[in-house]
Amino acid sequence: MNYDFDGPSFVIASVAALISLAAWWENRRSRKAAEQSRDAAETSAGAAQQSAAASEVSAKAAARLTDIEADRRRDEREQYHRDLAPSHPGEIVTGLMTSEVTQQFGLFGSISVGRDYRVQVIGIAGNTCTPITGVPPVLRANTLYQFHIEQWPDEKTTPTVKEIEFRFWPPAPVDEVEAWTCPCGRLATQADNPAGHWAFRAVVKSPPPPPFAFYS
Ligand SMILES: [Zn+2]
Repeated sequence: MNYDFDGPSFVIASVAALISLAAWWENRRSRKAAEQSRDAAETSAGAAQQSAAASEVSAKAAARLTDIEADRRRDEREQYHRDLAPSHPGEIVTGLMTSEVTQQFGLFGSISVGRDYRVQVIGIAGNTCTPITGVPPVLRANTLYQFHIEQWPDEKTTPTVKEIEFRFWPPAPVDEVEAWTCPCGRLATQADNPAGHWAFRAVVKSPPPPPFAFYS
């Protein structure tokens, strides 16, 4: 058998082949690594997107909960405001009498409230508003206060003051009653909120006719 080859050339060729094989292998390995790394990057980007979406959902849920809580607190404060309001008398029942204090004869009304309030009372006759004097600045709970509405000459039959407006506030620190306030957030002092923390109007009824009629 004749092995006719050039020894050193064969070795060089084989080494070259080995080098080329190694290069191919390395190339393949690094391509695969690049693919894996790209896949990993895609997976990680996907996870980041999911995580961002989840964060957005949870932020929206948190904002919604905050809104619900704010609504609940507002409703609660409004409920306190309604619960602390003086009850509306419906209408002002009147009577003709002479004041024991001023000896003044005229039309009187009365009011009683369930807790202590600072108060202002105003008589409404058309476009005219007249403060009703003779009512103390603070009404104490469950006490009947009578107040003079207007003078009542003999010939008068119906009140000129058609409505009474009551403006109420929680007691001021200077008032000598137990302090309390309304947590609703509206301005609570007479100076800050002159229209009244609570206000309502009540119709003034005509006084009952005199019990006796004299004919001549
Ligand atoms: Zn209030």
